[in-house]
Amino acid sequence: MSEKAIGILGGTFDPIHYGHLRLAEEMLELANLRQIRFIPTGTPPHRDAPQVSAQHRSAMVRLAIADQPAFVLDAREVERTTPCYTVDTLRELRAELGVAQPLCLLMGGDAFLQLNTWHEWERLFELAHIVVGYRPGFTLEDRIHTATPALRRHYQQRLCAADALSQQPAGGIAEMAIPKLEISATLIRSRVAENRTIRYLLPNAVADYIHQHHLYTPC
Ligand code: ATP
Repeated sequence: MSEKAIGILGGTFDPIHYGHLRLAEEMLELANLRQIRFIPTGTPPHRDAPQVSAQHRSAMVRLAIADQPAFVLDAREVERTTPCYTVDTLRELRAELGVAQPLCLLMGGDAFLQLNTWHEWERLFELAHIVVGYRPGFTLEDRIHTATPALRRHYQQRLCAADALSQQPAGGIAEMAIPKLEISATLIRSRVAENRTIRYLLPNAVADYIHQHHLYTPC
C-alpha cells in the first residue's frame, strides 16, 4: 500500500500571509497530502536577510496554522546558525522519515524555472518530488522553454499526475493550477511601515502579533 505524501513549504515567512496559506491548502487537497511542513528559512542563501528574527517568524507561522491540524511548523532551519540549503533539509527529513515516505517539495512556477541555481539541485529529485503551482492560464509548459536544457530535460522526463506522487518516494514533477492571491510579505511589511491596515491579508492572530511586538515599524 502506498503512503500519503508529506508536503514541504519553505519560505522566509516574513511574515506568513494568506497567499502562503491558500497555496498550502490547495496543494494539500490537489496532491492529496497528509501533512504540510512549514519550514521558515534561517539564513537564506538566495536572498537578503529577513527583517525580523527567526523566533518571530516561527511564532507567526505557529499562530497562522494553529487551526489546521494538517499544517505543522518545522523550525529546524531557523535553529541553525549556518546558511542552510534545501537539499540538506531534505536529506535530514529523508533520514528521519525513512526511504519509503513520499515527500513533495512545494514551490511556485517562478521558483521552479530557476531551480538549476539551487545548491546541488539535481540531488533534489533523489530526495523528493517537486510540486509546482502556477497561475491558471499561465501553464508551466508554456514557459519551460525559458529553463536551461538540463532543467527542461528533467521536466520532460519526470512530469507525472499529482495522484501518482504517493506511489514513489521521490523523483516526480507534478504541476497544478493554483489561483495566486495578490498578497506578498513585501506588501505587508511596507503597509505596516506606513501605518496602513493589513487586515484580511493575513490571519488576525498574526496581525495582532505584529502590532504587539512592533514588527516592521521604522525604529
Ligand atoms: P517576499 O514578499 O518577502 O519576497 P513572499 O510573500 O513571496 O515574500 P516567501 O516566504 O518568500 O513569501 O514565499 C514562500 C513560498 O510561498 C514561495 O514558494 C512563494 O512562491 C510562495 N508564495 C508567496 N506568496 C504567494 C501568493 N500570494 N500566492 C501563492 N504562493 C505564494
